[in-house]
Amino acid sequence: MSTSRPDTNDPSARAEVHELRAEIRANEVRHQAILDTIVDAVITIDPEGTILFANVAVERLFGYTPEELLGANVRILMPEPDRSAHDGYLKKYRETHVAKIIGIGRRVVGLRKDGSTFPLHLAVSEAKTKRGLLYTGILRDLSEEVRAEQELHATKERLELAVSGTAEGIFDWNRVTGERYLSARAIELMGGKEGIADLVDEAEYAKFLAAADQCLVNGTPIDVRVRATLPTNEVRWLRIRGTGVGDGSARIVGSIGDVTTEQSALQALEEMASTLAERVQERTRELSLANEELERASSAKDEFLANMSHELRTPLNAILGLGEALMEGIYGPLNAEQQRTLKTVEESARHLLALINDILDLAKINAGRLELDSEPVNVFDLCASCLSYIRPEAIHKKIYLSVSEVDRDLVVQSDARRLKQILINLLSNAVKFTPVGGRISLTVWPKPDADEIEFQVEDTGIGIPEDKLAEIFLPFRQVDSGHSRQYEGTGLGLALVSRLVEAFGGSLRVHSNLGTGSKFTIVLPCVDGVAEPEEVLLAPTNVRKALIIEDSKPDADRLQRFLKERNIESVILRTTETALDVLRSDRPDVILLDLLLPNESGWRFIERLRDDPEVCDIPVIVVSVVDEQPQSARQGAAIHITKPITREDIERALARLSNPEVKETAPDSPPKHTILLAEDNEANILTIGDYLRRHGLRILVARTGVEAVDLAHSEKPDLILMDMQMPQMDGFEAIKRIRAGGQSEVPIFALTALAMRGDRERCLSAGANDYIPKPVRLKDLLTAIDERLNGRERV
Ligand code: ADP
Repeated sequence: MSTSRPDTNDPSARAEVHELRAEIRANEVRHQAILDTIVDAVITIDPEGTILFANVAVERLFGYTPEELLGANVRILMPEPDRSAHDGYLKKYRETHVAKIIGIGRRVVGLRKDGSTFPLHLAVSEAKTKRGLLYTGILRDLSEEVRAEQELHATKERLELAVSGTAEGIFDWNRVTGERYLSARAIELMGGKEGIADLVDEAEYAKFLAAADQCLVNGTPIDVRVRATLPTNEVRWLRIRGTGVGDGSARIVGSIGDVTTEQSALQALEEMASTLAERVQERTRELSLANEELERASSAKDEFLANMSHELRTPLNAILGLGEALMEGIYGPLNAEQQRTLKTVEESARHLLALINDILDLAKINAGRLELDSEPVNVFDLCASCLSYIRPEAIHKKIYLSVSEVDRDLVVQSDARRLKQILINLLSNAVKFTPVGGRISLTVWPKPDADEIEFQVEDTGIGIPEDKLAEIFLPFRQVDSGHSRQYEGTGLGLALVSRLVEAFGGSLRVHSNLGTGSKFTIVLPCVDGVAEPEEVLLAPTNVRKALIIEDSKPDADRLQRFLKERNIESVILRTTETALDVLRSDRPDVILLDLLLPNESGWRFIERLRDDPEVCDIPVIVVSVVDEQPQSARQGAAIHITKPITREDIERALARLSNPEVKETAPDSPPKHTILLAEDNEANILTIGDYLRRHGLRILVARTGVEAVDLAHSEKPDLILMDMQMPQMDGFEAIKRIRAGGQSEVPIFALTALAMRGDRERCLSAGANDYIPKPVRLKDLLTAIDERLNGRERV
C-alpha cells in the first residue's frame, strides 16, 4: 500500500519535509499573531464543545486566560439556560445540520469568570479537518453598543413622554422634500390631517410658506397663526412656531399649538380697543367743543374781571381821593373826630381795594393767565420801595425796621411788580403780626453762582403754630380764624405769595416759633442783569466833616460809608455823653443824630446843643425809626430821615443842607403849569381836579375824548391826564389824534382802572408817556406830574 508520506531516508525528501514544517510553523506563528492582535475573541471547539483554541482577547471578554480555557467545555462561557442546553444544540446540529448560529451570527449572552454576564455577538464557522469537524467562533463584546442603544431608547422615550405630555404638537418637516415627522398630538390638532395645506385657505397657506422660507433664508423663527377649518368643519386657530435645523438641509422643527381661546380673547380685545378708540375720538370731539366753550367762557370771565375791576375801582378811587383831599383839609379844617372817622373810611376803602386786587390776582393766576415780565430790576430800589410802603405802619407801632446791605447797583432780570407784591405781602404780614416795639428785618442774598436771589423777611411777632404752617398758604386761611379775630386780613396774601413764587419757579420756606417770631424765605431764580453802574448825579455839598451819634453799629457804619463815598469824614459816638466836647474840638459841619439813644433821647440832646453857644449853629439831621418830622422841625433839626436809611436819603439831605432852596414840591408857588384832565367821571374830576388845583396847578377838564383832542389843540397844556375809557371817543383814540395833531411832545399820563395785563403796553403804544392805574394816590400823582414837568424843564 503506497502512502503519500515522503521517504525519510531520501535526503532531498527530508529537506523538503523540513522546509514544509518550517513553512507551516511560520504560518502558525503568523496566524497566532493575527489572532492575538484582533479585538474580538476567537475560540475553536470540537463537536463536543471542548475548547481547542482561544486567542488572548478571551481574557478581556471573559476573564479567563487562553490556557485556562484550553480543554474546558465552551459551556462555561454561557449562562443558563444556554449552558445546559448547549450540548443538546450541538447534538441536534450534528444530526440535522440545521444551523442556528453557524454561518449566521447572532446576539447571545456571555458569562464571565466572575459570574457576570454581558451581551456579545457570536459568529461561528465550521471547518472540516483531519481531526474531524471544528467550529471557530468570533465573539465581540456588545456591552457598549447595548448601553448606547438603551440610552437612545430612554431619550426617545423621555422625548415622546414630554411631547405627549404637552398640549403642543411637534413637527419635523423638510420644506424641499416634503418629508415630515408629526407627533400624535400634532396630527390630533390638525383634525387627523398630516399637514395644514388642506386646512387653511390659499392666502393663509402662502403666509405660512413665506414664513418658512424666511426661516430658512434668514434664520428668522417661524411664528404664524393660521385659521384652520378642521375636517369636522370646526374652525380652530393654530399657532405654528419653528426654527431651521441649520444643517444645510431645508428641515424645520417646531411646534403646533391651538390658540383658539387666546385668539378669541385677542379679537375681543381688538374689538374693544377699536370701540375705545372710537369713544376716545368721540370724547375728544366733545372735549374740544367743551374747550372752545371754555375758552369763550374764560375770555368772558376776563372781560368780566376787567369790567368788574373798573366798576369797583372807579367809585373806590373817588372815595379814596375825596377822603385824602378832605384829610388834607382842602375843603376846610376838620376836627379830631372827623379826622378819625375819615381815617376809618380811608382804611376800609384801602382794605377793600387790597381785597379786590388780591381776588383779581388770584383769579388771574388760577386761570393760568399770569405771565411774568422779565425786566432789569434794581434790587436796592425795590427793597427801598417795599419798605417805604410799610414804614408808616411800622413807625406807628414803633417797630424797628432793618434791611441788609444791598449793592446799590445790583440789577436782576425779574418782574418788578410781582416781586414787589411778594415782598410787600410778607412785610405787611410781619408788621401786622408783630407787637409794638418789635423788630423786622429784610435780608437779601444774591446768589450769582446759582442765578438765584434769596429774600428773607423775619419778624419778632406772634409766630405761627407748627400745625398751621402748611395751612396759611391756602386761600382764606388764617391762624386765628375763630370768632375772636384780632388781626384784620383776608387770608389771601400768602396764597398769592405762594402762587407767585411758584410762577417764578422759586421756592418758599417758613420757619416760625409761637411767641418768638417768623421767618419767611423765598428763593427766586433770576438771571443777573447787566449791572450798568448807574450814574449818580451828586449835588455839590459844603459838608466835609460829620459827627454820627448812633447806638446801632450797622446803622452807624452804613451812615459812615455813605458819607465816605462823598469824601466826608465822620466820627461815630454811641451815646451823647461826650458829644458836646467832640463838637467843640472837631467842629463838624453836620450832626447825624439817632433819637432812641441809651443815655438820653435825641430831642433832649438837641435842646442841650441849642443852649451851647459854641456849637448851637451846627445843623442836625435826625435819623430815626420814629417818623416825627414835625417834632424834629420844632426842635430845630434841619432835616429828618426815617430809617431804614438809603443812600438817596443822605444825598438829598446833604443837598438840602448845602442849598436850602431845594424842595420836593412847591405847593405855594403861583400856577405855573396847565394840566388837561380828560375824565368823564364827575367824582374823579372833583377829586383829582381839586387836589391838583390846590397844589398850584391850573386844571382844564375834558369830559369826552373829542373834547380832550380839541382842548389839547387850543390850550396847549403842559401835561395831559387821560382816562382811557370815555364816551364818544376813548383815550386810545384821543391820544393818537393829539399826537397826530402836532403835539408829539406833550406828556400824557394814561389814567385807567382797567388794570389788566397788557393795558400798560396798549396805553404806551397808543402814545402815552406813562401809565397810572386807578385808584391813584393823589400825592403820588402829584409827584409824578412834578417829576415829569421839572424833568422837562431841565431838558
Ligand atoms: P392775612 O394776613 O390777610 O390774614 P395771609 O394769607 O397773608 O392772610 O396770612 C395767612 C395767615 O398766616 C395770617 O392770618 C396769620 O395767621 C398767618 N401769618 C402770616 N404771616 C405771619 C407772620 N409774619 N407772623 C404770624 N402769623 C403770620
